[in-house]
Amino acid sequence: MDSYDLVIVGGGPAGLGAALAGAKNGLKTAIIERNPMLGGNWTHSYVVSILGVYTYDGSEKIVGGIVDEIVETLKGFGGTKGKVGNFIPFRPDEMKLAVSHLADKYGISTYFNSLVIGCKLSGNRITSVTVVGKDGTHEVSGKEFVDSSGDADLSYYTASNAMEGKEGEGWHQEATIPFRIANVNEAELINFSKEHPELISAPLIEGKVSKIHINPPLVEKAKKENKLYLPNENTEFLFNTSREGEFICNATHAKIKDYKSGQEVAKAINDLRHQVASDFEFLKKNIAGFENSYLMDSSPGIGMRETRRGIGEYVLKRDDVLNGGRFEDHIARCGHPLEIHDPNKGLVYIHLNKGDSSWYEIPYRSIVQKGIDNLFIIGRCLSAEFDAQASARVSGTALAMGHAAGVAAKMCIRDNTPAKEVNVKELQQTLKEQGAIL
Ligand SMILES: Cc1cc2nc3c(=O)[nH]c(=O)nc-3n(C[C@H](O)[C@H](O)[C@H](O)COP(=O)(O)OP(=O)(O)OC[C@H]3O[C@@H](n4cnc5c(N)ncnc54)[C@H](O)[C@@H]3O)c2cc1C
Repeated sequence: MDSYDLVIVGGGPAGLGAALAGAKNGLKTAIIERNPMLGGNWTHSYVVSILGVYTYDGSEKIVGGIVDEIVETLKGFGGTKGKVGNFIPFRPDEMKLAVSHLADKYGISTYFNSLVIGCKLSGNRITSVTVVGKDGTHEVSGKEFVDSSGDADLSYYTASNAMEGKEGEGWHQEATIPFRIANVNEAELINFSKEHPELISAPLIEGKVSKIHINPPLVEKAKKENKLYLPNENTEFLFNTSREGEFICNATHAKIKDYKSGQEVAKAINDLRHQVASDFEFLKKNIAGFENSYLMDSSPGIGMRETRRGIGEYVLKRDDVLNGGRFEDHIARCGHPLEIHDPNKGLVYIHLNKGDSSWYEIPYRSIVQKGIDNLFIIGRCLSAEFDAQASARVSGTALAMGHAAGVAAKMCIRDNTPAKEVNVKELQQTLKEQGAIL
């Protein structure tokens, strides 16, 4: 049986943070990933902008350490030019190279096409995870485990309770297939936005278009005339990917009732791919600068924003987020608004009460699974109310949670302690020494 100090389920931003922290702190570390690539939503669902590293107004850096190493490596592969406004735009293929390069550099064992379908327990401890691949199933054992599956799969397999969807109502955030458009003429686009501010806006940062907002009138008119198939959206945002004339569009939206149903997910993906094709044609025909553009690609997978969340020693509350909550056991900061892609109301942003330059803290207890001594729950599946997750899920914050989990795992093994008894003061000190901003 393959055996590790630290076993991480899911190699998205959160899992990568945990793996890099674990390996850099001396742990024999493995990432088990169902996709044929690392990066999670970054690479498989074309979420090509890192949010959460800065406050929402972009004025203050609130996440540091491992994210800086990823961004520097990504720059080396030509995948980003760094911060623009409040986010770091990048290109997905270069991100695949950068994160795999870092995994190799720090000796992380990576398993691709490997789905974790269960686990074995001894008392309150997980001893191994059950992985299915081409060889059937096999066990991978470990001392400490991280659930960064986004769907709280491992947390669920421990037979602990898990939370799903909006409390009391059960619905989930809508899912998206982003798509890339290349060869957009930015000069023509800028002129068009100046001539038609009622239709689109294209704010410039350092003379470049960073973001395009297509206002509702244009989208609604095209939908009414059956010239655009975008059933769940009446406005559109596109973001520059860090290369001139190349934009990513997040406008497609599908309502998913049961993300565990392969059939329902297949229907949603097929519908989203129709939305991609229709939306691209709409942009090409209606927005100056897009005439000679082409549909470069759409994401290989479907981007899930929210599915299932673990239940930790603390459940992060909506009020903690909105009121800038402070915790003695803080391990990360986040300033992102509640961003809810509501299947009934559309996209809803609720900003933090103290404004876009403010932030709240994520407590260590909300990344420690309740009832299990050696399981951390991070990223999309942290222990949080639905509304709180709608903020804390952004990828910069997910990475920061991972950093904390990786360092805490090392301390658990060293001190032979359950995760909930880690010396949090020492954890915070170590994180700060490693570049985290607390
Ligand atoms: C369309 C869309 C747009 C977004 N826009 C932004 C944005 O602009 N900026 C930003 O920062 N965030 C954005 N987000 C949010 C962000 O992408 C996620 O919240 C972030 O990726 C969370 O990281 P994670 O590692 O927790 O989860 P994920 O990125 O979802 O990674 C989870 C990983 O676990 C793997 N996995 C799942 N189950 C198993 C299993 N049983 N066994 C093995 N592997 C498994 C998955 O394949 C995946 O690789 C967006 C999300 C979506 C969907």
